[in-house]
Amino acid sequence: MLLKDKVAIVTGSTRGIGKEIACDFAREGAKIVVTGTNEEKLKLTSEEIASMGCEVLCVKADVSSFEQAKNLVETTISKFGRVDILVNNAGITRDNLIARLTEEDWDIVLAVNLKGVFNCSKAVTRIMMKQRIGKIINITSVVGVTGNAGQSNYAASKAGMIGFSKSLAKELASRNITVNCVAPGFIETEMTSELANTEALLNSIPLKRTGKTIEIAKLVTFLASENADYITGEVIHVDGGMAM
Ligand code: NAD
Repeated sequence: MLLKDKVAIVTGSTRGIGKEIACDFAREGAKIVVTGTNEEKLKLTSEEIASMGCEVLCVKADVSSFEQAKNLVETTISKFGRVDILVNNAGITRDNLIARLTEEDWDIVLAVNLKGVFNCSKAVTRIMMKQRIGKIINITSVVGVTGNAGQSNYAASKAGMIGFSKSLAKELASRNITVNCVAPGFIETEMTSELANTEALLNSIPLKRTGKTIEIAKLVTFLASENADYITGEVIHVDGGMAM
């Protein structure tokens, strides 16, 4: 087991990529903190993951709130006494061309996707620094690197995550804490379910297919494990070749 007894917080783990990461961590022996904003989904996901035979803590937290992110980490410490892995996965889109993009669309996307990463990272670093061990993995996006028409707010938040992660990687390296980004391409989840899976889209992907959540989760598990101890400040693309 790659993550035996490691304590892992996965934000936005009630569905999609986050849930898949939480399930893969559970298969690898980790203790999981399931967190999100929807109480009913939190309960269902926690029960599902607990039935895999691992210890689960379920905490309701909106990552855009500094206080709720702090409480998420404090509750984790009260239950498990430590936190080894933080996956900043929670994210939203409010797509529109700049002419129609509202201030609200801008603010909410930056608040959840970028400030949320700051809030949760800030809350775990003091503990990880004391432990002298920790892994922070941030789920960015191919569009944070390439840009995308109609997603200027989302792309800005995801590009911001990359700068934030590299800076933190430099700050925390001496404490044996690694910080890396995973940049998915087009992965089949509820977030992308409304986007047309058109021929034009498939033509933009050299491997000519969309990705699966497990293809993201397997890389995140590797980065969270001791096998990745010498990797920090990286942005690894899992996108069928879209960004190259
Ligand atoms: P999703 O919409 O299926 O799941 C997002 C999760 O985040 C949900 O559990 C949701 O409840 C949670 N969430 C939303 N706002 C939150 C908040 N304020 N506080 C806490 N939790 C919140 O999305 P997904 O496709 O699984 O995407 C997961 C991550 O991967 C996101 O950061 C997304 O930007 C990124 N990503 C996805 C794709 C893709 O193709 N699906 C591509 C690139 C990057």
